[in-house]
Amino acid sequence: MTIDTAGPLNANGVPLPPPEAQVLKNGLPSTLPDIDPSRLTIIRAAVLKFLPEANTLVFGEVPTDHMLYMDFSPDHGWSPPQIRPYGPLNLDPASSCFHYCPNVFEGLKAYLGPDGTPRLFRPQLNMERMVRSAERVALPPFNADALLILIKRLVALEARWIPRARGCSLYIRPTLIGTRPSLGVSASRHAALYVILSPTGPYIRDKDGKGISLLAMSDQVRAWPGGTGGFKLGLNYAPGFAAQRTAAALGYQQLLWLLGETVAEAGAMNVFAVFERTDGALDVVTPPLDGTILPGVTRASVLSLLSHTPLTAALPQLPTDVRLHTAERTLTMSELFAAAGAGTLREVFCVGTAAVVIPATRIGWQRRGGGSADAEVQDIVLPVVGGEGSLAHALWERLVDIQEGRIEWEGWGVPCDVAVA
Ligand SMILES: *Cc1c(COP(=O)(O)O)cnc(C)c1O
Repeated sequence: MTIDTAGPLNANGVPLPPPEAQVLKNGLPSTLPDIDPSRLTIIRAAVLKFLPEANTLVFGEVPTDHMLYMDFSPDHGWSPPQIRPYGPLNLDPASSCFHYCPNVFEGLKAYLGPDGTPRLFRPQLNMERMVRSAERVALPPFNADALLILIKRLVALEARWIPRARGCSLYIRPTLIGTRPSLGVSASRHAALYVILSPTGPYIRDKDGKGISLLAMSDQVRAWPGGTGGFKLGLNYAPGFAAQRTAAALGYQQLLWLLGETVAEAGAMNVFAVFERTDGALDVVTPPLDGTILPGVTRASVLSLLSHTPLTAALPQLPTDVRLHTAERTLTMSELFAAAGAGTLREVFCVGTAAVVIPATRIGWQRRGGGSADAEVQDIVLPVVGGEGSLAHALWERLVDIQEGRIEWEGWGVPCDVAVA
């Protein structure tokens, strides 16, 4: 394999930036155009699809009529954005996205407000995270505000696709891929950025509607210090698919990712545990953002609601006498098992855009290695699940009310009040 060393090098053999890269604006050479929403062109689909029934929706299966597309080259910068009929991309087989995986994605949702206007939930946080993810794999930078304006235009155009039923929404998948057409192992200075949409019901349909089971495996790791777990990169997910299959064979719905004995995340969700103190107050714990944890928008929103005073203003479904101590700190499997044994583990729940908040009802811990289906698994079955009075239930209700625009809360709901064309 050859390392690409095209272009001038400095004394240490490191490629020098091209002269125009000396003056940077938003991370781009100032001579190159950034994303420019005023140059948007819209090509409408000749025939529109039939809308699927809301109760048949499977996450990510049905694309809408249109997509947003633009690309970047080091010569021309960001192309004028285009909204065009949904369809395949035309890519060189040598494109770096197929070989070295400089691929970034985001996930957010559009909801229909009571006034019929589509709404996004804290979308600036997704855009900023996408810029950080792009930087982590050396993809071209872009203006986050400009991309958000274009996403609002796309969602406004596709508003008929947003399901009205509670808990249903239109999933938005912004994607940025390296398209450098060369096998040289180096950063891609060519990229494509596109946004596709898919109507969605509740992400995980469990049988009794109450919660999910998690399997923790000691010999499988999702992320590690200095790695990429804190960024939304495609390369973080494929290595978990085989472990996910093992978990499913053992009867568990999601993986509980560990690093050693430390709890990290559940599937592609952040995780919280609730412990009861002797005086009845509750400790709500989630792992800290140490670089191995994806900084979820839902996680940040849950932490913000939990730390609001008075608490009952943020979470009116909770009993008025509840007292919470919220902490971002290390959470271990031994701590979970000890608390479950002592009867002080009240709840474990997972949070993310797709599921919002979903309680865990059962956690298995496979301590011996091999990832084989017959290795011994120790189980804890959680006594409290997501019913009335639980924190998971109160958080789900409140977040969905904010997302669907029934409640205004700290500017979190952002209407797509833009002209369609
Ligand atoms: C996307 C994601 C989350 C959840 O983030 P949200 O912004 O709340 O949707 C958590 N963990 C992983 C690994 C993820 O990919």
